[in-house]
Amino acid sequence: MGAFLGYRCSLCAAEYGPRDVTYTCPKDGGSLDVVLDYAAIRRLASPASISASRELSIWRYLPLLPVDDPGHEGTALHAVGWTPMLHPARLAQLAGLDQVWLKDDGRNPTASFKDRASAVAVARAQEIAADIIVTASTGNAGAALAGMAAAAGRPAVILAPKTAPPAKVAQLLIFGARVILVDGTYDQAFDLALEAASAFGWYCRSTGYNPFTVEGKKTAAFEIAEQFTMMAQPSSAPKAVWDVPDAVFVSVGDGNIISGLHKGFKDLLALGWIERMPRLYGVQSTGSAAIYNAFVSGGETITPVRASTLADSISVDLPRDGVRAVRAARETGGAYLAVSDESILVAMRDLARAAAVFAEPAGAAAYAGLVAAMRDRLIGRDERVLVLNTGSGLKDVRAAMQAAGEAPVIEPTLNALKSSLGRG
Ligand SMILES: *Cc1c(COP(=O)(O)O)cnc(C)c1O
Ligand SMILES: [Zn+2]
Repeated sequence: MGAFLGYRCSLCAAEYGPRDVTYTCPKDGGSLDVVLDYAAIRRLASPASISASRELSIWRYLPLLPVDDPGHEGTALHAVGWTPMLHPARLAQLAGLDQVWLKDDGRNPTASFKDRASAVAVARAQEIAADIIVTASTGNAGAALAGMAAAAGRPAVILAPKTAPPAKVAQLLIFGARVILVDGTYDQAFDLALEAASAFGWYCRSTGYNPFTVEGKKTAAFEIAEQFTMMAQPSSAPKAVWDVPDAVFVSVGDGNIISGLHKGFKDLLALGWIERMPRLYGVQSTGSAAIYNAFVSGGETITPVRASTLADSISVDLPRDGVRAVRAARETGGAYLAVSDESILVAMRDLARAAAVFAEPAGAAAYAGLVAAMRDRLIGRDERVLVLNTGSGLKDVRAAMQAAGEAPVIEPTLNALKSSLGRG
């Protein structure tokens, strides 16, 4: 919080003080980047001091965040982040790489990456004494807000499309949020959440609108650097500088996660805590590829699409953080890839069978993107690649059954079992 200087518009570069604006740039609607005082952060913390922290959550990076510790120790708010990083040899072999790292953000309190953003948004809401928090969601952002609001004992309102997978709707409801399903698309729910926030004075967490979600999501970049260093250079001496993978693969819908990763690595570079940026690779479904289209066109104009993909978490007509998302890949020397729904189903099976990670379709899309990048020779086999799984497969059981197929049902006899096994 001490290092929070204000905001800078990602489009026109106008600067605002911490209390001047709440959401987007008043001049052009551009996404706002949070501006931090890096010299102040360097006085407070270092890679070694953070690595000595006993806080095994995103709050170990508190000096780099524009909010205070939200309190509520012992609740799920302090279980967000510090998710496992795996180094599965069989997955590397399958992908045609010497090594691969897999960070599993399905292992968050509400089983998706979105907890990082919602935890920081709840901390911000407390600080500005906002009462009710509202968000539009395809499911995960809402579940994350509902969960974090429950941890903090605060009211939340979630607007989601009625087509959201039933497990996600159940999650919204069980945490006690006010859940309203919209007979329309995510994009329509998004517009309605904005209208409701201004009509009722609610604090709006919606992705690509609230500047604090990126600040929560950037903690994944910090963990990637810190954990990658621990795993790639496993000596006990604390490091003054962290290492990073050569390339990071992440799935993209609104473009807020990849923008958050970019911000996190930029923060670390500005602090001198890493020496270079990893290349960021964004992966979209061919059925929802507005940011991919802008990237391959060479510009940064986002033209909406009619999104249709089984990966519901990245099904977006008009990405709300598209410009920053294009830049995240372009400025780091990465790229965008578009993958089919069939290749996402294959990726779900491969991640589960070669790495024991059960990903929802949008999470597995990142790995499908790596497979496509290997085919297109964007990645060398000796490069150090990290794939980020953004959500648990338990959130969308129907898609998992589509990927895995049905189990046979038999009479409970050995003969029936033999014939089912083909040993009759
Ligand atoms: C939200 C989400 C994404 C995409 O994040 P954006 O910020 O919308 O690009 C990817 N995977 C999962 C599981 C998500 O919930
Ligand atoms: Zn602006």
